[in-house]
Amino acid sequence: MTISRSSTDSLPYQDPALPIPERVADLLARMSVEEKVGQMLQLDAQEDLDDHVLRKHAGSILHTSPESILRANELSAHTRLRIPLIVAEDCIHGHSFWEGATIYPTQLAMAASWDADLLERVARATAVEVAATGVHWTFSPVLCIARDLRWGRVGETFGEDPFLIGELAAAMVRGYQGNGLADPTAILATAKHFAGYSETQGGRDSSESDLSRRKLRSWFLPPFERVARAGCRSFMLGYQSMDGVPITINEWLLSDVLRGEWGYTGTLVTDWDNVGRMVWEQKVQPDYAHAAAAAVQAGNDMIMTTPEFFEGALAAVDQGLLDASAFDPAVARILTLKFELGLFENPRLPRADLAGIVGNAAHAELNLEVARRSIVLLENDGVLPLSAARSTRVAVVGPLADDAQTQLGDWAGGSGQVGWLDGQPREMITTVLDGIRRIAPADWVVTHARGADILTLEPDPAGPTFPDGQPRPSHVVPCEPDQTLIIEAVAAADQADVVIAVVGDRIELVGEGRSTATLELIGGQNALLDALIATGKPVVVVLLASKPLVLPASVQRAAAVVWTANPGMQGGRALAEILVGEVEPSGRLPISFARHAGQQPTYYNQIRGQHGDRYADLTQSPAWAFGEGRSYTTVQYEDLVLEETALTASDTIVAQITVRNTGARPALETVQAYVRDAVTSVSWTDKELKTYRQVGLAPGESARVRLELPVAECSIVDAAGRRVVEPGQFELLVGPSSRDSTLLGAAFTVTTP
Ligand code: BGC
Repeated sequence: MTISRSSTDSLPYQDPALPIPERVADLLARMSVEEKVGQMLQLDAQEDLDDHVLRKHAGSILHTSPESILRANELSAHTRLRIPLIVAEDCIHGHSFWEGATIYPTQLAMAASWDADLLERVARATAVEVAATGVHWTFSPVLCIARDLRWGRVGETFGEDPFLIGELAAAMVRGYQGNGLADPTAILATAKHFAGYSETQGGRDSSESDLSRRKLRSWFLPPFERVARAGCRSFMLGYQSMDGVPITINEWLLSDVLRGEWGYTGTLVTDWDNVGRMVWEQKVQPDYAHAAAAAVQAGNDMIMTTPEFFEGALAAVDQGLLDASAFDPAVARILTLKFELGLFENPRLPRADLAGIVGNAAHAELNLEVARRSIVLLENDGVLPLSAARSTRVAVVGPLADDAQTQLGDWAGGSGQVGWLDGQPREMITTVLDGIRRIAPADWVVTHARGADILTLEPDPAGPTFPDGQPRPSHVVPCEPDQTLIIEAVAAADQADVVIAVVGDRIELVGEGRSTATLELIGGQNALLDALIATGKPVVVVLLASKPLVLPASVQRAAAVVWTANPGMQGGRALAEILVGEVEPSGRLPISFARHAGQQPTYYNQIRGQHGDRYADLTQSPAWAFGEGRSYTTVQYEDLVLEETALTASDTIVAQITVRNTGARPALETVQAYVRDAVTSVSWTDKELKTYRQVGLAPGESARVRLELPVAECSIVDAAGRRVVEPGQFELLVGPSSRDSTLLGAAFTVTTP
């Protein structure tokens, strides 16, 4: 269609010298009700852009290809009021859907670094790439707390601990938002999915969350509260309902808690078609007019991908369900954001010098650094590090040893959410096989065999899409073990001194609507591991899996086990460096591993009280617990001392502990401090992580590590839902993991002042 330029120059809202509230008021007063409703819409740029911008007056778009960013801006520049669009994207571990962008390890992988400063740098570097391409808003970080490991989105989380999630999420928010929105490299961060979305039933995505308010306040809300108070500019509302009320219209959560108690003044965006889902999925609203009215009344600002909201909201006004002024608070908040970003003066179109920014060498270096830190050594009988001094024959085996796109994980180009990209450039990705080949000394022999296939797909007989147009995942059909592939792999193992077996999951088993019923390695992978281990050769199992999976019993005889969640573009190089000992392994688990799917849940901070501590047929103890991870050296913890042991609620606990590197290689030790409250007025978890410090130790070196913790943090949530410190006996537990057997304890008491 042809577009005619309107003339609105030099109106007050266009004057950058005026204060933002004045500009907002002026513009709001000029807007028709249709323009206001449209301003609240965030629509999919892969659909009819002309209709979105010109007819529906959309305020925002998402999933915008490089071409559609330009087209959308051109369209909005020709609308009556020339209100710029705010462009959003899921840049959750790098600029996911921009070809050639730096794709970092997934959130869960990065969480294994336990390094907030490093994650802040990753978010900053991501923002620099994202902002340069004309995108203003990322839907990251994810603050959901991992519960049932069968859930498909575990890999998007920072793991299972609220304190660690809060530390890392706050760091990423700082990194994205930089020096404030006026900074041209700043992008809006989003805390999602507010709140309780991960409390699934049986791991099923978006099922009703059966959560009490006390449980929410105890574990699910604290990370969100932290970033709300720290100025995270947007919150995304989860899909699910709680107590029968979808989050989108949950007055208690949105008004009483978020905007009320926490004083949050930022923007609320729904998740994908949350408003429509109330009509066609949850069936708690009779039609779009009622759904739109309820969403506006609950204080939502941006309605993601419910195009029907446009007609629905206008019908709500006609039917008297909403006053025409009901949209003003939301529209004012959206316009304020746009003015703060300076979009009226500069819509921040893709920069001309993009090539030097997106996927640049400095970001690749940072990516390598975070990939190294995200790898966790779980078992090692001494086979690692492989000695570069000795000529070695290495068989690199397994379906994921050389699978570049799988290594990147979800939200990474080829993961299916957008149609214009089917992966990131192969030459930017180093697989494990590439990494070993590049790093191997000249006299090493490196061979490769795939050894197994994982799965094939069958279309869902219910059709290719859900009612909202979202793609319906295909059915996964696990492959049978393939004897030809296994024989080939065993032959490679027989000819080798050491086998590196890279196994795990694939994108078809990861993400929204792709929860898994089991946690087993699927397809021919278990049979492959059994056969490799039966050769008697030392087998290093590299589990390249989006989330903790269950390994077959034969792995107890493996020489080493290493876990990396999807480690990003530099992952293969980082793994190779660790395997040959050029880099020390330092990752620590941000999440516990189960021995069997039936052990769910396995998170460490469960509430005290049950009959016994095991199943009749299996221990309840996890395969590897939160906080665990090995180095190539040994570290001793000694002499835990508290400066004061009689404290009041306004005091700070000060502890000192000696950590001693008793081996021959350097270590980066994560000294973890948990608190145990001896007796609580209501049932509570046995211990909770409260702080930690990372210390580098040369061989033979020891350090006296000082830990400080305000007593105010030693709180519980009481039966009335209040967070309180209850006077009495406590214990500070310090050590290398959450396992009781590894922790030293020191008692203290808290009295009322
Ligand atoms: C996901 C969100 C995501 C949004 C936009 C939804 O389906 O739940 O995490 O930000 O889509 O892509």
